[in-house]
Amino acid sequence: MPETILVSACLLGFRCRYDGTAKINLQALAFLRDHGFTPVPVCPEQLGGLSTPRSPCRFDCGDGTGVLNGNGRLFDDQGQDRTGAFLRGAHAALAITRDHGCRLALMKERSPSCGPHWVHDRQGIQTGSGVAATLLKREGIPVFSEEELAALEEFLNNAALKEKILVKSKQE
Ligand code: SF4
Repeated sequence: MPETILVSACLLGFRCRYDGTAKINLQALAFLRDHGFTPVPVCPEQLGGLSTPRSPCRFDCGDGTGVLNGNGRLFDDQGQDRTGAFLRGAHAALAITRDHGCRLALMKERSPSCGPHWVHDRQGIQTGSGVAATLLKREGIPVFSEEELAALEEFLNNAALKEKILVKSKQE
C-alpha cells in the first residue's frame, strides 16, 4: 500500500494562504511522486475555522510550544486573538494524520501553523515551530519542511533511523 504523508495544502497548490494564494512547490510535488507517496493535504488554519483570505497572524512571543502549553498567543493584523483557531486547526490536522495513517509530514516553513523550524512573531522571523507542526512533533510524527527535501531523502534512505522513528510513531 502506498505510504501516506501529511502535506501543507498550499504546497500542493491549494489556494488556502492568508491572501488567497497557493505556494505550490514543484520540487516537493516531484519528490512525493518519485517516492510513491500519497499526499494528504491539510490547511490547519482553515481547519481551525479561519476564512480565506484572512488577516495574517503572528505569535505574540514564542512559538507553537507556548501556545500548546497555554502561555502563548497568536494575534492577527487587526489585533484579534486567534489562538483558539490555531489550536483547533492543529488538533484537526493531528486527527487527519491518524485517520489516514500518515507517519511523516511535509509542511510549509515559516507558517505560524505549519512551519517546522521558523515562524513569524512581532519581531520578524524567529526560530521555532508552528502550532500544528509542534503538536505533530510531540505526537512522534517527523516533520520536514519543503526546504529540507535532501534531509527527507536522507531520512528515507536511512533504514535504521526510519524504522526506529516510524515504528515508534505507529505505536503511539
Ligand atoms: S496554514 Fe499551513 S497549509 Fe494553510 S496556508 Fe498556512 S502554511 Fe499553508
